[in-house]
Amino acid sequence: MANNHRNGTTHRSSLNKIDRPLSVNSNTKPASKSKSLPVSGLRKSTPASLAAASAAFKDDAGVPGRVRVAVRLRCRNAEEMVADADFADCVELQPELKRLKLRKNNWDAETYEFDEVLTEFASQKRVYEVVAKPVVESVLEGYNGTVMAYGQTGTGKTYTLGRLGEEDPATRGIMVRAMEHILADVSLETDSVTVCYLQLYMETIQDLLDPTNDNISIVEDPKTGDVSLPGATLVEIRDRQSFVELLKLGEAHRFAANTKLNTESSRSHAILMVHLKRSIEGRDMTHSGENGNNNHIIKALKPPIVRKGKLVVVDLAGSERIDKSGSEGHTLEEAKSINLSLSALGKCINALAEGSAHVPVRDSKLTRLLRDSFGGTARTSLVITIGPSPRHRGETASTIMFGQRAMRVENMLKLKEEFDYKSLSRRLDIQLDKLIAEQERQQKAFEDEIERITLEAESRISEAERNYADSLEKERLKYQKDYMESIKKLEEKWVINQQKQGSETIIIGSKDGTSNERGSMMSVVEELAEVKKLLLKETQSRKATEEEVNNLKSQVAQWKRSEALGNTEILKLRKMLEDEAHQKKKLEGEIALLQSQLLHISFEADETRKRLDKGGSDKVRGGFDSLMNQVRHAQLQDSGNGEKASIAKLFEQVGLHRILSLLEAEDADVRIHAVKVVANLAAEESNQEKIVEAGGLSSLLMLLRSSEDETIHRVAAGAIANLAMNETNQELIMAQGGITLLSMTAANAEDPQTLRMVAGAIANLCGNDKLQSKLRAEGGIKALLGMVRCGHPDVLAQVARGIANFAKCESRASTQGTKSGRSLLIDDGALPWIVQNANNEASPIRRHIELALCHLAQHEVNAKDMISGGALWELVRISRDCSREDIRTLAHRTLSSSPAFEAEMKRLRINY
Ligand code: ADP
Ligand code: MG
Repeated sequence: MANNHRNGTTHRSSLNKIDRPLSVNSNTKPASKSKSLPVSGLRKSTPASLAAASAAFKDDAGVPGRVRVAVRLRCRNAEEMVADADFADCVELQPELKRLKLRKNNWDAETYEFDEVLTEFASQKRVYEVVAKPVVESVLEGYNGTVMAYGQTGTGKTYTLGRLGEEDPATRGIMVRAMEHILADVSLETDSVTVCYLQLYMETIQDLLDPTNDNISIVEDPKTGDVSLPGATLVEIRDRQSFVELLKLGEAHRFAANTKLNTESSRSHAILMVHLKRSIEGRDMTHSGENGNNNHIIKALKPPIVRKGKLVVVDLAGSERIDKSGSEGHTLEEAKSINLSLSALGKCINALAEGSAHVPVRDSKLTRLLRDSFGGTARTSLVITIGPSPRHRGETASTIMFGQRAMRVENMLKLKEEFDYKSLSRRLDIQLDKLIAEQERQQKAFEDEIERITLEAESRISEAERNYADSLEKERLKYQKDYMESIKKLEEKWVINQQKQGSETIIIGSKDGTSNERGSMMSVVEELAEVKKLLLKETQSRKATEEEVNNLKSQVAQWKRSEALGNTEILKLRKMLEDEAHQKKKLEGEIALLQSQLLHISFEADETRKRLDKGGSDKVRGGFDSLMNQVRHAQLQDSGNGEKASIAKLFEQVGLHRILSLLEAEDADVRIHAVKVVANLAAEESNQEKIVEAGGLSSLLMLLRSSEDETIHRVAAGAIANLAMNETNQELIMAQGGITLLSMTAANAEDPQTLRMVAGAIANLCGNDKLQSKLRAEGGIKALLGMVRCGHPDVLAQVARGIANFAKCESRASTQGTKSGRSLLIDDGALPWIVQNANNEASPIRRHIELALCHLAQHEVNAKDMISGGALWELVRISRDCSREDIRTLAHRTLSSSPAFEAEMKRLRINY
């Protein structure tokens, strides 16, 4: 009986009982005998909620399709064999008609059509091919796809999907086979396959690859509707075995997790997600390029396209009603929660099947997770598993109804393609690098070629020259030889002729020799002709050689000419270069001039501003006003070339005496202006005498003493320094106690410019032979040395100049015998600073000190101190490294003429 029902010998009438005669698959027309729901009504459109637009650039609506549903019957298991031995199976399959009959009772059955009807004998391979293969194929093409198994616990969901088939490859389930299919199709160099494996239990998503990760959240892209699980462990798969290991690991974790939660795997959903990223060439561009080259460029600029596909394999929780398995001890709330996802899936499928405007996808984690993979834009296959046991008829019936409803869910496939701009940019970068490298290579090759040609030309020229010399020499030797040979031949002939003539004379004397004589005459004539011929030949060959030689000569001359041409070109270029350099120098000079003028002008502007700021107070002053105005007016014009003219004018208009009298004015402002004017005047050599005569020097010195103003000190010292260039003035300054005043000013000044002026003035005084001891006695050297505290290079340069001047005069005096004993500079403690700054990086300082050292070293009295003070090393350095030859020579001479230095150098093993 049972066999009767199972092997397809069914009642004819049962056909009329087809409840929902749905189309077999999306590509064939719906069953024409349809009695119930019109199929067309079920396929209107994809519900918007699941078909959210993706990032795909294809803007067509996609490929229409429908959720494909297969039913799989498990054979009776051992328990059923015994328990149900007396009962027929509750289902009967008609695989050829893709129908299933569900027995109501012994005489009545309901028939249902499915996309596939898989009997208990269906192999795993066949199950894969009809259920999963089309989905995997479309995932490989860039769509999302889902394979789900729905059914009562123990009916074979896990067997169908998750079997690893390690002992028996024939039993491999859909997961393993799908991965094998994918790995065989993708290219692992350009594509990537990653998986995550999850468990959904009581609305919580756990990571089966990382058990600690037990509450993964779902993220939905509001724009594309794409669903992702950023928290899930993603593992890249490169071969079948690693995938199997991963599934095993997941299974082990699932077991552990369920033990911990006191549940069993039938209560949870296992979800495998396979993410596929495939890079494909840009779209065909052959129509857009005129030629191959163009095409190539366009192709290069075309971003590669990445196709993304996602395969979701869901091993759903057992579909049996929860109250049946209430024995597990869950509360009702827990029980509701356990099956929430499954019932939400059922509701969604109902809504989709009925074309309802609202699909409650958000009701559960499972439906949210499947939002982009079930129905809608994805290809979906559902396998419903049933058992044969009549005891579970109710569950089996509900499973069948679930499958029937799912068959009405339509989907619109959408391709998931994106432009991969990043990899395009990488590609272009690589191409650019290649082009740059190629260009460099070509450049190098070009330069090499030029060098090769140059070398070749040079070697040719030298070869031609060599050849010319060789052939010239050869020709010369040949001529010499020929000439010698001809001479020799002629001599021989001459000797023979002589001999012949001698014997003929004898013969003529003894016999009748008429005929003989004629004969010999003939031979002489013949020989003569021969010799002539030879001579002619030789002349010709010589001519030819001469021509050859001339030819070569003219060639050489030509080469020389072109060489000379090149040389003149080079000379011309060199000249141009020199001109340019000259021009540059000139311009630089002009720039420097302009810069200094600018400085001057800005200084003047500053002064003017200050003056204008103080303008108000001028009004109250009386008698000086007009005079000051003249002075000021003159000063305002003091700039550049106008300076001398205006100062000359000032002389005329105001008179030197009146200007000098202003130096003692009560108003400090007036004094400042006056001293500036005097300083300006003193800068002119022609004015100096007049200023001194008019008592200007005394007034200036007095200002140093009486004024407390730094500006006045600075300007007055500058004026004194200018006046101190003259020997007579130097004596006057000294006579009026100038050195003491300058030393005082030096001791109190802070401003480097003031110190520079004071040091300059003292440095000038140091250069006077007559003033040496007085200068020293009044503290001049100490004042100079005191100023090095400021550290400003301009001040140091003046100090160094003063020391050099002093040393020079001293040296002169020592040589002349007017001075004896150690240098006053050493007495006053200048040596440490001298040694310390002998190699100062500022050349004005260094040069003066180098000179000073040389002067000091010339006198043996100083040698001991110089050696102990470290000056010897500096002298050796100067004699070796000084860039100025005169100083170098001086140092050298000094060292080699001093016995003390020589002895010390010997002791120190300095090779000199
Ligand atoms: P489910 O996952 O639906 O609870 P299982 O896949 O665990 O069911 O199957 C329950 C039992 O039935 C297992 O022992 C399994 O090996 C066996 N089984 C299921 N389907 C088949 C089949 N088609 N052929 C052979 N054995 C099967
Ligand atoms: Mg299972």
